[in-house]
Amino acid sequence: MVFSYYHRLSPRQRKIYDRSNRIETLPLVPAAIHHEAVFALQNALLGESRPAVERTAQALADLLTEACQTPPVRVRVLDRRPSNAYGELHGLYEVKNTRTRPLITLWMRTVHRRQVVAFKTFLRTLLHEIVHHLDYEMLKLEDSLHTEGFYKRESSLLHQLVGDGEPGNQPTGSRRGAPRRVGAGPASGR
Ligand SMILES: [Zn+2]
Repeated sequence: MVFSYYHRLSPRQRKIYDRSNRIETLPLVPAAIHHEAVFALQNALLGESRPAVERTAQALADLLTEACQTPPVRVRVLDRRPSNAYGELHGLYEVKNTRTRPLITLWMRTVHRRQVVAFKTFLRTLLHEIVHHLDYEMLKLEDSLHTEGFYKRESSLLHQLVGDGEPGNQPTGSRRGAPRRVGAGPASGR
């Protein structure tokens, strides 16, 4: 935990932070179909076909939201990552309003050399954005914060899906987008 960050939070936000931090796992019922979906996504990425990557990423997201009994989330896969001085954006979770499905956006190619993103990195980014979705829809947190508990939930999903294989490391300078709730109530300040 970043001490000064926590101390800047309002009492209401601290409650959300503490709750987010306490929950460390998202247990899935073991199912062969999850592993098949992961394998299909890996193959699609190897094949470098954007529509196939989008379709298989959506299929995996559907299985996970079904397993967690939450409303579905839409997954969109774009080609080349946007970047700025802080690094490359890997993924984004957006909620526009209560009528449309929340949207996860992922990018499948790096900025430099336009290489296809490593599979474990891509999978971890997808799971990261799904954990944002589950924070709101399953854990009913008012805000989805990057707490230690959040990253443990992300790792918990990853390990259940790929076993004890080493989780893909993020290259330095990379970042993921904080979740955005576009026009959904008062701004959370992020
Ligand atoms: Zn995030």
